[in-house]
Amino acid sequence: MEFFEISEEVKELGRKAMEKVLPYFKKIDEITEYNQLKMLSAFQQARVSESLFAASTGYGYDDRGREALDKIFAYVMDTEDALVRHNFASGTHTLTVALFGVLRPGDTMLSVTGLPYDTLQGVIGIGKDYSGSLKDFGINYEQLDLLQDGTVDYDGMKKAMRPDTRMIYIQRSRGYSLRPTLLNEDIRKIYELAKSIAPDCIVMLDNCYGEFVEKTAPGQFVDLMAGSLIKNPGGGIAPTGGYIAGRADLIEKCAYRLTTPGTGKEIGCTLGQSRELFMGAFSAPHVTGEALKTAVFAASVFSMLGFDVTPHYDEPRGDIIQAIMLGNEERLIKFCQGIQAASPIDSFVTPEPWDMPGYDSKVIMAAGAFTLGSSIELSADAPLREPYAVWMQGGLNFHSGKMAVLLAAEKMKHLVNI
Ligand SMILES: *Cc1c(COP(=O)(O)O)cnc(C)c1O
Repeated sequence: MEFFEISEEVKELGRKAMEKVLPYFKKIDEITEYNQLKMLSAFQQARVSESLFAASTGYGYDDRGREALDKIFAYVMDTEDALVRHNFASGTHTLTVALFGVLRPGDTMLSVTGLPYDTLQGVIGIGKDYSGSLKDFGINYEQLDLLQDGTVDYDGMKKAMRPDTRMIYIQRSRGYSLRPTLLNEDIRKIYELAKSIAPDCIVMLDNCYGEFVEKTAPGQFVDLMAGSLIKNPGGGIAPTGGYIAGRADLIEKCAYRLTTPGTGKEIGCTLGQSRELFMGAFSAPHVTGEALKTAVFAASVFSMLGFDVTPHYDEPRGDIIQAIMLGNEERLIKFCQGIQAASPIDSFVTPEPWDMPGYDSKVIMAAGAFTLGSSIELSADAPLREPYAVWMQGGLNFHSGKMAVLLAAEKMKHLVNI
């Protein structure tokens, strides 16, 4: 480690942590290899060639790059069709297009994973009362909370569902909570139960952070899913965008909402963005594996330091997020400063806690990313409140992710017993 100053104690800690995680890295490699070859095969089946990278303008009729990218995502997600666009402005926007695309006034949407991700609440009309929310359009929202241990309440679902429940909404990732992330197996169970009660309901998945983490793709057991291209499926290369994947009839409705009823997927110029979306998709399985390794290594290091971590290094994972309970403010700050110090961008910046709009406590964030807000690149966020947990995710390559974790440990060395 001649380029970074790491004490002997922390180096030794890193060596021990590596020994522990090696069997789990082997499993990650198996998943990565499987998904990477599936992606390669998807590229070949879509007959990708350089001409597909060409920029279209105006209406973008017959943009073959756009069409091939949709095919690739449908293939890797195990769905009939997909809608992959650079002009989805965020993950929330993508999920919003999917929800508005398929729900109609009078429909009921039932979330079975508790309160949805923060930014979706305003879209649905929970708490906030924005004009143009689903609620404003007469779409009912119902919520089934998770059980005490953070798992899905299947019995409660049987009671909460009716034969005409229109949508079952699932959020896979823990987001910024401490509940466990759902695995594809959990999603399959929800799907089967939902269809046994309401065969026509749409099972929709917020798949953010979950892509390529497991060998199976959730396409077989959801009707519709959506995610962000500045997370896993953009491979750290896509500069913006999102994807929706699912049943062909539903994808058509989403496309009608994104552009216009009638034109749907047939229009939308790509302005030269396709090449980066192709490159990102191609790298996505591998990069997701690197982020997973970074998370597992962090879990190993910080549990050896005596902190509660979730998930544990040896637990199966459904997303790339690692939470570490650091217990006090000072450690959160040092942790984030360590992560920042190992970033390729803005390594010289020292993150400080600030009053972020929409939060009731100060928040500290570490992010030194090529793409603003990208969280497939290594980043860490922590609200300064009980239980003083930091959420860390991403890492384009494990070697620099590993150094970031070690620097975080080094920075708080005087605050823990090493
Ligand atoms: C990131 C995320 C979103 C929203 O994506 P943005 O790009 O931040 O709008 C929604 N749900 C989950 C679970 C997420 O992790």
